[in-house]
Amino acid sequence: MRPAAAVDSLQAALAAAEAGERLNQKQALALLEEADLLTLGRLAQASRFRHNPDPLVTYAVDRNINFTNVCTSGCRFCAFFRPPGSKEGYVLDKKELGKKIQETLDLGGSHILIQGGLHPEVGIEAICEMFAFIKENYAIGIHGLSPPEVVHMAALDSISLDQALDRLIAAGLDSIPGGGAEILVDRVREKIAPGKCSAAEWLQVMALAHAKDLMTTATMMFGHIETSAERIEHLARLRDLQDQSLARGKGHFTAFIPWSFQPDNTALPDIEKATANDYLRMLAVSRLFLDNFDHLQASWVTQGAKIAQVSLTFGADDLGSTMIEENVVAAAGVHFKLPAEELVRLAREMGFAARQRNTFYQPVGAMHT
Ligand code: SF4
Repeated sequence: MRPAAAVDSLQAALAAAEAGERLNQKQALALLEEADLLTLGRLAQASRFRHNPDPLVTYAVDRNINFTNVCTSGCRFCAFFRPPGSKEGYVLDKKELGKKIQETLDLGGSHILIQGGLHPEVGIEAICEMFAFIKENYAIGIHGLSPPEVVHMAALDSISLDQALDRLIAAGLDSIPGGGAEILVDRVREKIAPGKCSAAEWLQVMALAHAKDLMTTATMMFGHIETSAERIEHLARLRDLQDQSLARGKGHFTAFIPWSFQPDNTALPDIEKATANDYLRMLAVSRLFLDNFDHLQASWVTQGAKIAQVSLTFGADDLGSTMIEENVVAAAGVHFKLPAEELVRLAREMGFAARQRNTFYQPVGAMHT
């Protein structure tokens, strides 16, 4: 039998969530660990409709372009990177890059998500040149890099994070994806990604970007060595940063995107994949706790179409992107592919209209009812 105090704290957390109150970390932890799954889904969906009253699910058409797979970080959860000197290492040239961008535009894409590894010789100048090439030749948004890449490039060129961001923005960077967050707790980062930036540095890059009016997303990769409390700590750090951004007039995190660790081909093969139950609980608690985030994305790339569809009843209002190309999760042996028509079908089957959006969540094209 559970102690009376635990029952009380769960009941208090459920009551707070039902009333739409801001949850504290203790309440979020009680919900994540103890609440009934379907109750969590109902509460998260009520929160979803408070943030986004229309029965509409959005999606983007874009492509993940990895300009290099060479990386010095050696994260233990990553099946994508190759160490410097590897025969399988590559750096895309402008011709290959241009071809991928043109294909994205031909499919109605509004932006590209462009990221690489922490290449020891590709610094800020090379990246600015690449961004300038893209902007001079293609009408497409650059949703690019991630905080660890910005930290790496600033260190390579011995410049401040502030200077690095200014140069990237001047060259054409439009927004920053929230990659490389994993779990924003250094105990976890030191074990699974010791070569990557700290939690404080990740948050610092995002804070600086927000202060420069750059929109970003936030992510979480869970289901490896972290505790439930560390997952909640991660959410709390994001919520605090969004509060700071809102205090200046606008929340610069557009969306939160949680996904579960995919262990195949990584240095952590013995970790069991998160179940659908774990994924949906995490999604629902994220929706309830992140009361200052407008949007939550379902991760069909890691969960597949069926769980992505269920996610639309657990707080998610967005299906992410078509990902014409995706290399990082694919390297871990997960190969779900969904064209735009399929994303529309998934949303409509669940009773929602669907609409393409750009990276700023502005509508693109017609509504699919
Ligand atoms: S996750 Fe990113 S930083 Fe880490 S090894 Fe892979 S490519 Fe490098």
